Amino acid sequence: MDAQKSMPILGNCRLLGVIGDPIKHSLSPVMHNAAIQAYAQEQGMASVPFVYVPLQIALEDLETAIAGLDAVHCQGFNITIPHKQAIMNCLDHVTDVAKRIGAVNTVWKSDRGWEGTNTDCHGFLAPLLELNRTWNQGEALILGNGGAARAVIAGCEQLGFDTIRIIGRDRSKLEVIQGDFHDDAHPNRIQINTWDEVADFLPKAQLVVNTTPLGMAPKIDGTPLEAEAIELLPSEAVTYDLIYTPQPTKFLAIAAEKGHVAIDGLEMLVQQGAKGLETWLGAKPNISVMRDAAQAILNR
Ligand code: NAP
Repeated sequence: MDAQKSMPILGNCRLLGVIGDPIKHSLSPVMHNAAIQAYAQEQGMASVPFVYVPLQIALEDLETAIAGLDAVHCQGFNITIPHKQAIMNCLDHVTDVAKRIGAVNTVWKSDRGWEGTNTDCHGFLAPLLELNRTWNQGEALILGNGGAARAVIAGCEQLGFDTIRIIGRDRSKLEVIQGDFHDDAHPNRIQINTWDEVADFLPKAQLVVNTTPLGMAPKIDGTPLEAEAIELLPSEAVTYDLIYTPQPTKFLAIAAEKGHVAIDGLEMLVQQGAKGLETWLGAKPNISVMRDAAQAILNR
C-alpha cells in the first residue's frame, strides 16, 4: 500500500496482534495491516480501527500477557508456536473445530469473555474447495503428524475422505493422533504408517499433503518424497505443501513437472488470517490485498 495514502492511528484505534516465540518472521502483521488500511479506506473512515502488531511472549509469561491484553482492551489476537495449545486454558469459550484440532490460533473478545477458534482448517480447505472435486471414497495421505497436521486431518474429515492416512516417524505419536481423531461413525478412517511403508500407499492417494518442514528454506534441497516416489501417485492426485518458502518447494516442483495440481502454503496462510480478521472487523476483509502484501514480502 502507498505509504502516502496510509491512514492515521488515532485515539479510537484498538489493538490486534499475534503472540508467539519467536515471532519476528511472522507475515501476519503485514497482511493484516494492509487489509485493515484497505477496509478503512473502503468504509471512508478517517483513521484505522485497528493496528496489528507482533508480540513476542515466552510460554511462562502467557497468562500475565493475556491479562495485560485484557487490560489494554485488545480486540483479539492470533496465536502461533509455542502457545497454540496452552492458550486454551486461558479462554472462556473454545469452538468445536478448535477442540477437535486441539489448538487455537485466533482469539477475540466477546460478552462471554475471551473466545478462541482455529482457522487453519478453513485456510487449508480454501484452495481445495476451489478445485470443485469430490473426495469421498478416496484416500488422503498426510506426511507428518505435528500441529499443522491436526488442522489438515480435520479438513480432510470435512472433505469426506474414506481414509485419512498419516505418515510419521514415531509410532507412539501416530497412535496418539489416531486416538485423538477417532470417530465412532468412521472407525477405520484414520490410518497410521511409518515412512518405510509410504510407497505402498502412494498409488491410492487422491491428495498428498506435506506437513513436515522438509524442503523449507534454507534447506530447500529437502523433500518428503523423492521423484521416484512421486512417480507412483495416480495422475489425478493433488499435491499440497504447507510450506510457502521457497515457492515452489522441491516436492511441488517435481509434482507439477509430472502434471499434478500443486498447491503451496501461502493460500492457507492468507485464508486462515482472513477468517480471523473477519471476526474482529465484523466484515469480510479484502483477501487479495492480504495475499499481495504477503507475496510482496516473500518476493523481497
Ligand atoms: P511441528 O508441530 O513441529 O510438526 C512437524 C512434523 O514434521 C512432525 O510430525 C515431525 O515429526 C515431522 N518432521 C520434522 N522433521 C522431519 C524429518 N526430518 N523427517 C520426517 N518428519 C519430520 O510443526 P507444524 O507446526 O506442524 O508445522 C509444520 C510445517 O507446516 C512447517 O513447515 C510450517 O511452516 C508449516 N505450516 C504452514 C502453515 C500455513 O499456513 N501455510 C500453517 C502451519 C504450519 P516428529 O513428530 O517425529 O518430530
